[in-house]
Amino acid sequence: SRGLSRALSSTNGSLKVPEERVTVLVIGGGGREHALCYALERSSSCDAVFCAPGNSGIAQSGDATCIPDLDITNSEAVISFCRNWGVGLVVVGPEAPLVAGLANDLVKAGIPTFGPSSEAAALEGSKDFMKKLCDKYNIPTAKYQTFTNPSDAKTYVKGQGAPIVVKADELAAGKGVVVAMTLDEAFEAIDAMLVEGSFGSAGKRVIIEEFLEGEEAFFFALVDGETALPLESAQDHKRVGDGDVGPNTGGMGAYSPAPIVTEELKKKVMESIILPTVKGMAAEGCKFVGVLYAGLMIEKKSGLPKLIEYNVRFGDPECQVLMMRLESDLAQVLLAACRGELGKVSLTWSPELATVVVMASEGYPGAYKKGTVIKNLDEAEQVSPAIKIFHAGTAFDTDGNFVAAGGRVLGVTAKGRDIEEARTKAYDALDVVDWPEGFYRRDIGWRALKYRHMAAH
Ligand code: AMP
Repeated sequence: SRGLSRALSSTNGSLKVPEERVTVLVIGGGGREHALCYALERSSSCDAVFCAPGNSGIAQSGDATCIPDLDITNSEAVISFCRNWGVGLVVVGPEAPLVAGLANDLVKAGIPTFGPSSEAAALEGSKDFMKKLCDKYNIPTAKYQTFTNPSDAKTYVKGQGAPIVVKADELAAGKGVVVAMTLDEAFEAIDAMLVEGSFGSAGKRVIIEEFLEGEEAFFFALVDGETALPLESAQDHKRVGDGDVGPNTGGMGAYSPAPIVTEELKKKVMESIILPTVKGMAAEGCKFVGVLYAGLMIEKKSGLPKLIEYNVRFGDPECQVLMMRLESDLAQVLLAACRGELGKVSLTWSPELATVVVMASEGYPGAYKKGTVIKNLDEAEQVSPAIKIFHAGTAFDTDGNFVAAGGRVLGVTAKGRDIEEARTKAYDALDVVDWPEGFYRRDIGWRALKYRHMAAH
């Protein structure tokens, strides 16, 4: 850490000439992890990047050495891999291993790990936990109450009136939230969660929450236990169809920056939401190290940001556009977070915009076919040096072709001077990809485009 301090002081905190070398292990195997590997591989302080399990596309891109056989649910196996290969930093991408306590075990073994403990991951895992923290530390959020008894819940709903929001307490694969426009819809959601048990144990407790009217925005910060460093803004498109219609997905595309997140809003969110959360968690003896990804509502009536939810990891595909734009040495930045030294770090970003268009298997987010052949990926990436294709779910068939191995399969990412240029490049590359069983949205970034047009007039 003395090496790092020296590196930091010699560059005025901008981390340009890091002296300490590090080997990194990224946990996960989606587009988010590919993007993290890509940024780590470009980090001049990084000796080697491993990704477990990774995927075929990550391995072929050369951004990391994939370890498909490392059992990431077995902490002992991960620890011994780290010891054998001299891994000095582990970056955990998805929430499941965090909730399972992988970061707890790695930190206990003395391995610097970027990602929260299972206790701190409750910020995402339990809405009740998150809401109680908000109450105690005066973090602005929707007014709420928690219920396990359906008739009490309904009485409360009657008193509050509609619209009102009903949420399963624990993670329910993104489906545990019902924005009820009428009392009947709210009653139905309460019955589904508390009586019929539609969400299993996740819905045994419900949160009933005030409906906030306004515009949604998202905010990312790196956290080192004591303080936080905001990242550039990014926004995704959750719905499967053009015009933001159809069922919710993991995200069909994203862009960065998001014009709604102004400098003024960033400052407000840091002061009123992120920093009180970080300090609150520390005061509760539950220090948070990792990414805080806040879903916010910019309330129409007050203009103030209110917290809707926390995720305890990078969003995917948002991570892909952020990593395209990050110019700092990611390995050193994340090591600084693990050591509680983020206060000394400042980040450098490309002034260019980035956008990612996700290519998914036809049928996603419903049933889809696996194993369909994808061709011309190299050709697509060569359309422009500003293109990078991240692999979210690809494998090789016996003939050495890339095949689809999941719902969301590719993240075609492009940089440009403005949103039009970035979009045009991404769509030019998509035209070259030969995958008849794949589909993508044609309107990624439309909201950013709208802002740009408004600003121009
Ligand atoms: P969550 O999983 O908590 O992020 O909720 C999913 C979506 O439901 C959010 O992205 C919002 O669009 C909407 N939502 C959640 N809570 C509220 C609220 N209190 N008021 C209005 N919309 C909400």
